[in-house]
Amino acid sequence: MTRLRTAIPGPRSLELQARREGAVAAGVRSTLPVYVASAGDGLLVDVDGNQLVDLASGIAVTGTGNPAPAVAEAVHAQIDRFSHTCFMVTPYESYLEVCEELNALAPGSHEKRSVLLNSGAEAVENAVKIARHVTGRQAVVVVDHGYHGRTNLTMALTAKTMPYKHRFGPFAPEVHRVPTSYPLHDGLTGAEAAQRTISAIERQTGAGTTAAVVIEPIQGEGGVIVPAGGFLPALARWCREHGVLLVADEIQTGFCRTGSWFACDHEDVVPDLVTTAKGIAGGLPLAAVTGRAEIMDAVHAGGLGGTYGGNPVACAAALGAIRTMHDRDLNAAARRIEKTVLGRFGTVAEKTGAIADVRGRGAMLAIEFTERTPDVAARVAKTCHEQGVVVLTCGTYGNVIRLLPPLVIPADLLAEGLDVLEGALLA
Ligand code: PMP
Repeated sequence: MTRLRTAIPGPRSLELQARREGAVAAGVRSTLPVYVASAGDGLLVDVDGNQLVDLASGIAVTGTGNPAPAVAEAVHAQIDRFSHTCFMVTPYESYLEVCEELNALAPGSHEKRSVLLNSGAEAVENAVKIARHVTGRQAVVVVDHGYHGRTNLTMALTAKTMPYKHRFGPFAPEVHRVPTSYPLHDGLTGAEAAQRTISAIERQTGAGTTAAVVIEPIQGEGGVIVPAGGFLPALARWCREHGVLLVADEIQTGFCRTGSWFACDHEDVVPDLVTTAKGIAGGLPLAAVTGRAEIMDAVHAGGLGGTYGGNPVACAAALGAIRTMHDRDLNAAARRIEKTVLGRFGTVAEKTGAIADVRGRGAMLAIEFTERTPDVAARVAKTCHEQGVVVLTCGTYGNVIRLLPPLVIPADLLAEGLDVLEGALLA
């Protein structure tokens, strides 16, 4: 079925792109400058009437749909009642409900508390604030290929210079980077990789001065890197033994994306603090830090917050999104997507020497090319885009095609998108 009416981008999108150049800062880039008019479960409809198959979900945000009916309903109902009071001035119930959901869903059966914020980067900033406050230590350890945001502290935590950090320094101090587990490249078992990581922390930073290790349980922007089994549990054990807080950045992996509520669940890792954003609120800006009650409650009153954090419309959306995840069993949906994609592209990889690895969990999947330059991934992505399929590239070397389809994407639409990707891979 042809979903395209014009070349991609179409004439109206090109017109808007030209207008954008006179209005929007050039530093803001779009993967595919096709201007969106409306969307559905796995489809984006552009201003030229083209239908695009969405295998990106706005970078792992619209997993529940665009929007899920329950999100749309909750948002409409809330905006008709009130739009904002500021939770720090006069609170409202939905903020409590979102925190209760987060505390119940986040890994571990211990008592938890949450604080709501606006963006992933802000959540990570707050997790570091809390960890430093509670431990009285300053050093923060992060790993190679990590991505945590674009604010000053989170740029320091992020590994890749171009485009995230180039000429934006000086960066926040007391951030120490150590190796991680990247099975395709290092060939290490989880235990060996953890030993390498731990020994680098002990040598370079010192356990006694380290407040936290901040790590994505599956690295997203860095290349959808799934650490070898046993790596995260060993790191968590070492953190516990040394009073170092383990901060799991689940901003991209959380909320059913990897086929469980959180990626830490796959190996029963229980972090001290978890950061969430993206998929939590079905497209509205909301983020959170959730953690052990005694850690979260140690911060003085007024030490955490912000004008918009936990905005009531975003909270309503989150409650609608979480309900959708339960009602439609989106963990199972993500696991189905994993089976389809890994099965299919495992076979494709056998037909071409260009593919080094096909990996991922749930609906967070990737194809890494043998060549460690962005050329092949960029060509494949461009071919997909021209045929109306939205895919992303990522990776420290830019040599990874990343798939983050909506968890609610119908099977036939997913197959249609994957057909195009397969064609591009074999071209
Ligand atoms: N951490 C991770 C793991 C992310 O994937 C992202 C966003 N890609 C962020 C933090 C930053 O989130 P935001 O863009 O909402 O600030």
